[in-house]
Amino acid sequence: MAKPKVATTSLAGCFGCHMSLLDIDDRILKLVELVEFDKSPFDDIKDFTGRCRIGLIEGGCATDENVHVLQDFRKHCDVLISVGECAIMGGIPAMRNMVPLTECLEEAYLNGPSVHNPGGQIPNDPDIPLMLDRVYPCHEVVKIDYHLPGCPPSADAIWQMLVALLNDKPVDLPYELIKYD
Ligand code: SF4
Repeated sequence: MAKPKVATTSLAGCFGCHMSLLDIDDRILKLVELVEFDKSPFDDIKDFTGRCRIGLIEGGCATDENVHVLQDFRKHCDVLISVGECAIMGGIPAMRNMVPLTECLEEAYLNGPSVHNPGGQIPNDPDIPLMLDRVYPCHEVVKIDYHLPGCPPSADAIWQMLVALLNDKPVDLPYELIKYD
């Protein structure tokens, strides 16, 4: 029987949540028995090859490309999970939400203390993803089925959530895995 497919992506994230999934250590052998990875940085598959049971999203939406990728995940995945604070709340990238986008770009490319930009040009090549007015959490862009908090969520939390969903069981993580102090 074909194994269920899992896809993962990092939008405006740091890949720490992906690293946390790899922290399941030798359970990775069990995971590859249970699932087949589709579009994901883990296998470098760039485009979906079919319908996926689960999509894991790291990071929020900072650019039009992030929105496009997230919508593509929603289209191809039965269950979509926001993994980590950046996906759930925008995280560190969303700190720019307190400042107008124009000011952010001017500070980064024109006025910052370490900037050397004699041409005074803010990059605007059409091939560069367009920055959004602010960073959006994933659930403000598409329907998200589960939120897995943490920065990053622990390997055990990700593992237990995946195993529950793959076995059609309710996700009921113990308190120790979702408390942060
Ligand atoms: S939640 Fe934390 S670990 Fe995950 S992408 Fe954001 S900053 Fe990185």
